[in-house]
Amino acid sequence: MSKQFDVIVIGAGPGGYIAAIRAAQLGMNVACIDEWKNAAGGAAPGGTCTNVGCIPSKALLQSSEHFEHANLHFADHGITATGVKMDVAKMIARKDNVVKQNNDGILYLFKKNKVTFFHGRGSFVKAVDGGYEIKVTGKAEETLTAKQVIVATGSNARALPGAAFDEEQILSNDGALAIGSVPKKLGVIGSGVIGLEMGSVWRRLGADVTILEGLPTFLGAVDEQIAKEAKKAFDKQGLKIELGVKIGEVKAGKKGVSIAYTNAKGEAQALEVDKLIVSIGRVPNTTGLNAEGVGLKLDERGAVVVDGDCKTNLPGVWAVGDVVRGPMLAHKAEEEGVAVAERMAGQHGHVNFNTIPWVIYTSPEIAWVGRTEQQLKADGVKYKAGTFPFLANGRARALGDTTGMVKFLADAATDEILGVHIVGPMASELIAEAVVAMEFKASSEDIARICHAHPSLSEATKEAALAVDKRTLNF
Ligand SMILES: Cc1cc2nc3c(=O)[nH]c(=O)nc-3n(C[C@H](O)[C@H](O)[C@H](O)COP(=O)(O)OP(=O)(O)OC[C@H]3O[C@@H](n4cnc5c(N)ncnc54)[C@H](O)[C@@H]3O)c2cc1C
Repeated sequence: MSKQFDVIVIGAGPGGYIAAIRAAQLGMNVACIDEWKNAAGGAAPGGTCTNVGCIPSKALLQSSEHFEHANLHFADHGITATGVKMDVAKMIARKDNVVKQNNDGILYLFKKNKVTFFHGRGSFVKAVDGGYEIKVTGKAEETLTAKQVIVATGSNARALPGAAFDEEQILSNDGALAIGSVPKKLGVIGSGVIGLEMGSVWRRLGADVTILEGLPTFLGAVDEQIAKEAKKAFDKQGLKIELGVKIGEVKAGKKGVSIAYTNAKGEAQALEVDKLIVSIGRVPNTTGLNAEGVGLKLDERGAVVVDGDCKTNLPGVWAVGDVVRGPMLAHKAEEEGVAVAERMAGQHGHVNFNTIPWVIYTSPEIAWVGRTEQQLKADGVKYKAGTFPFLANGRARALGDTTGMVKFLADAATDEILGVHIVGPMASELIAEAVVAMEFKASSEDIARICHAHPSLSEATKEAALAVDKRTLNF
């Protein structure tokens, strides 16, 4: 006997579990299926984000930042900290506990919202009268049916051709978040968000980290001025970043991993490391879904093809998050999940792709929303720019963290904010104000005239807005 639901969500990452909760809030009878297992084989909902992504990476970034502060910065405050040691096993255990708290939190939210959770793999069986039959393969096998299905099956790390992940020496994000002791030499291929964050963690703990990047420019998607400022800070920290390289043979042996590559000048180079993190992007995941069995259309990357509303080619089947087009970000997946649930309920769910914030949780943090200066130039938009350095911000001085700046870009004629770019302390939190401002189509003058608490880092945001009109008060 199959169990009947209004909606079946396949995948309980941020896209899936949030869609399930919102659909339940809107009165639908919802099932959510997820196959992720914790070390004990139990359910671990939350997807990549909770288990091997956003949450554990931020836990390790926090631990390693404390370690670095104790070693390098406590003395500035008059605190003597001698013999500071890092117990890596304890740091990893703490990270695992943070992950577990999030897994348990989602299971609690499912109960609270009356979402029925199934632990196992969900796959399409067939279309049935006005809906779909989905098989759950877990400890027990179950058959579910529903009129509406949301595919939220996420993504997997992309491997380098010829260098499969063994998670011992050649690591994806999974292995990078579970290294048992600080490697002497760590290689990272790819200087994107994950490469920089993971490279930072292990550098702070004492590893000699080299990041190899194929592209000739550092953080090409980031505003150039901001990327340059960030690069300066990373260079100072000793994070070695080589741009414009071409990776050749990667060989894992008893002693470590050797990477043959040519540098930007075309010279042959070799890098020997104890471990190598490969962070060259992620691929949409539809493994085991039996998409082909029901004719669910995928593109050449393996992503589920959707329209602007996240509708697939099959009536009643939707897809959200990393498994579809668009930025692979947890909050983008969540917004799509909410919007789809609301559309199913006949409401007008909406995701504004122009105001999705981006954050890199390095030190300094990098965060932005909207267009970069180079994009505005390419689009032929006339704009005004204003910047304010944290060096001139009282709170940043008190924190002892004055690297970076806030940058505003506003339309030259209307003053509407077109982009805000931050490199510096707590950029991840500061960016929220810019997102709200852009969502409400604020002008830089609006932000400049709003009272910001003193002393706060957010005053740098106000000052950067003032700088658009060349009237900063503190610089
Ligand atoms: C190291 C790292 C750090 C990151 N940091 C950030 C960050 O700071 N901020 C940010 O916004 N994003 C970050 N991301 C990206 C973020 O994790 C993803 O964008 C997000 O998890 C996508 O959510 P999702 O729901 O689409 O998919 P996922 O989180 O991948 O979840 C998909 C779920 O579906 C399950 N599943 C797949 N197929 C089936 C099936 N057939 N049956 C049952 N279950 C199935 C999977 O097991 C998984 O649990 C990071 C990623 C990594 C790897």
